[in-house]
Amino acid sequence: MSVREANVVILGAGPAGTAAAAQLGLLGVRDVVLVDRHDFPRDKTCGSGLSPRAIETLKELGVWRDIEPHSYAIHGMRLVTKGDRESWQSAGEKAAAVVCQRRVLDHLMLQKAQARGVEFIPHFNATDVLREGERVVGIQAQDGTKIRAKYVMIAGGSHCRVGLPEQRPRRIIQAIMGWWDDVPFRAHHLEMIFDASIAPYYGWLFPENERRVNIGICYEERDGKQNARELFQRFLDKHYRDRLSKATQVGGWKGHPVVWSYAIEKLTAPGRLVIGESGLMTHPATAEGIYQAMKSGMLGAGALSDILSGRRSEREAFADYERRCKAQFQLAFWAGGVFRRVARTDALDWVVSASEVPVVKSTAARILAAL
Ligand SMILES: Cc1cc2nc3c(=O)[nH]c(=O)nc-3n(C[C@H](O)[C@H](O)[C@H](O)COP(=O)(O)OP(=O)(O)OC[C@H]3O[C@@H](n4cnc5c(N)ncnc54)[C@H](O)[C@@H]3O)c2cc1C
Repeated sequence: MSVREANVVILGAGPAGTAAAAQLGLLGVRDVVLVDRHDFPRDKTCGSGLSPRAIETLKELGVWRDIEPHSYAIHGMRLVTKGDRESWQSAGEKAAAVVCQRRVLDHLMLQKAQARGVEFIPHFNATDVLREGERVVGIQAQDGTKIRAKYVMIAGGSHCRVGLPEQRPRRIIQAIMGWWDDVPFRAHHLEMIFDASIAPYYGWLFPENERRVNIGICYEERDGKQNARELFQRFLDKHYRDRLSKATQVGGWKGHPVVWSYAIEKLTAPGRLVIGESGLMTHPATAEGIYQAMKSGMLGAGALSDILSGRRSEREAFADYERRCKAQFQLAFWAGGVFRRVARTDALDWVVSASEVPVVKSTAARILAAL
């Protein structure tokens, strides 16, 4: 049974883990090991939308130049309300978002981390953390391989429970989606459809390139009684039947949960720090999680760099990490809670019907961009 020693081991190479790894490399922390149960490139069920905040974070990480050429620019959106009112919103050039397939995004981020000296170990299916008393001192794989480290970062996403002993209440948004070629769509515009059957959530169409779109729905499970495929089929029949009639479906539909909480807490314990969706840091109303994953990964990397270089104690740096995550996300999560309540009412219909007035139109665009 082999044992590897490291300064930092990161469990999971999604946006959280790769951002943390890339940032640790940038900050000069050596002997960082990143593991994932998959090899890369790999797919991840996701709309792959990157908000303006996510783009800013990619710039801070120094990877935007690598990612931009593989991204599809979004300059506006089609909004459909529960009352079937339709509106076209322009985010303006400045607020432009992009769609970048996760197969590409995560792989480019991983390559950047490797170029900065991080070692990547694929096919490492972590099953447990190693402990010495209360302290986490490493991780262990299903095949018995162990990595001992001064610090463990947990970035395993929504399914992984390794290293998360606290019973933090998780809330769940269910999602199901598919991919199609040759669906007619307005170039550089995404679509958000607030249908009553999935309120307070929405369905979407995100263009990935000139030819391919992904379409999906997210919804809150009620008593486990909804059938995801039936719900999605009804949504497609209502909103996309005509446009899908001449399109070609690519692969099968995929379902995947998004986990979240209003409370940003319990992200640290002796020897280990949680980042990304493992820390329940996804947006309660939009299910956006890539930005929060990358940002918390960067903040976590900063905390570990401070500790390892002796600038701050573990206690100080960990407390500061939690404070910074709260400062970064808490307001938006609460705003998401308000939006969830609003989305159950007819308020969006009112906004859209009033949106012929230019000031309302631009305000609505700003609110959606800010979410
Ligand atoms: C259908 C759907 C659509 C979405 N659309 C968007 C969107 O358009 N924009 C947006 O910002 N967010 C979106 N999200 C949310 C976003 O996908 C996640 O919040 C984000 O991927 C979280 O990043 P992460 O790095 O924390 O975790 P993940 O991306 O889930 O990465 C976790 C990594 O850990 C690995 N791993 C897990 N367990 C283990 C283990 N035991 N051992 C080793 N490795 C392990 C996994 O293989 C994976 O590579 C969507 C989510 C869903 C489900």
